[in-house]
Amino acid sequence: MRFNGNFTQQEPIPEDGIAAATAVMQHGRLHRYNTRDGEAGETAQLEAEFAAFTGARHALAVTSGGYALGTALRALEVKPGEPVLTNAFTLAPVPGAIAALGARPVFVEITEALVIDLDDLAAKAATSGARVLMLSHMRGHQPDMAALMQVAEAAGLTVVEDCAHTMGGSSGGVVSGRHGTIACYSTQTYKHLNSGEGGFLITDDPDIAARATLLSGSYMLYARHGAGPDTAVFEPHRDHTPNVSGRMDNLRAAILRPQLRLLPERVARWAALHDAMEDGLRHANSIHLIQRDPGLVRVGSSFQFAMPERRAEWIADFVSRCAARGVELKWFGAPRAAGFTSTHHHWAYAGSASLPRTDRVLAGLIDMRLPLTFSTGDCEIISTIILEEAASA
Ligand SMILES: *Cc1c(COP(=O)(O)O)cnc(C)c1O
Repeated sequence: MRFNGNFTQQEPIPEDGIAAATAVMQHGRLHRYNTRDGEAGETAQLEAEFAAFTGARHALAVTSGGYALGTALRALEVKPGEPVLTNAFTLAPVPGAIAALGARPVFVEITEALVIDLDDLAAKAATSGARVLMLSHMRGHQPDMAALMQVAEAAGLTVVEDCAHTMGGSSGGVVSGRHGTIACYSTQTYKHLNSGEGGFLITDDPDIAARATLLSGSYMLYARHGAGPDTAVFEPHRDHTPNVSGRMDNLRAAILRPQLRLLPERVARWAALHDAMEDGLRHANSIHLIQRDPGLVRVGSSFQFAMPERRAEWIADFVSRCAARGVELKWFGAPRAAGFTSTHHHWAYAGSASLPRTDRVLAGLIDMRLPLTFSTGDCEIISTIILEEAASA
């Protein structure tokens, strides 16, 4: 048996998104501030809709998730050389956002559940003196957020949540991104909404929202935003905040607005695919499913499992045997960064860290995309192939 599906094939943009994008191209006002009197542009409308979707007071649409992360740190006035805590299981744009400011990532260990280790967080907060935690909800895994916020508050940490993989999910009944002071999202093609590139930053704090808006390149047109603070809030910031252009445009916003309305339905379909993978692999003896916090509503856009008893050479061979049968797996224990997959060992710009627990977890961690173009039947074929190859000596 061979699987013939494509692990990187997205669904088409919804017809109403294509129609809205065509209308923007026909009128030609692609720039977000290029609006006629009384016209609310697509980008401003998207911001209002995303703020309503998350329940945040303010939402800012930007060019990418990574840009949103960098803007969050700038809006918090993180300075060069300053330590910023972050969980060691994440994607390169997270340490990249910290290092690009000249700040210093301080990696915190993760647990077997792929979430931040709260004891190590408390310890590293104390030893580093950091005031910001950039918490990446990597691959949709989230810690008990109430417990995390207690540790953060006790340590005086401001929390920025990286919700690139949790948009549409929740934890303890709270929408993902609403525990911390700021949350960042991505609408890059491989995430939960697809505009090619794009992102959001949300916050309830009007001063942070004002600085983030000015940073994004609003010039003095910040009144034309969809979910920004009152113009009076900008007064103390407008002459003191540098412009680091990264605005979203009306074309991307036009294709995102209909997708945002479809997100709850997409989350339900992802849950069915993720459940099908778990059901298929639950009883394999060399495969460990990842434990989930009971209060978590996970967005199943990817699937992970662990093979902690297997040696590196065996896993490398297992991944290539699955690939030969059409099942594309990624491995976090690989010696070199490959494709989108990398670990703290590969981020030489971030300095080296000793993270024995994280290294143990990542050494046996396998990762797989679950695009919505797959069916639960596809998941059954994929898990059968994985089971067969996992059983080989
Ligand atoms: C994709 C991603 C980002 C950055 O998003 P871009 O829009 O690609 O810049 C940040 N964090 C995680 C965990 C991601 O997967």
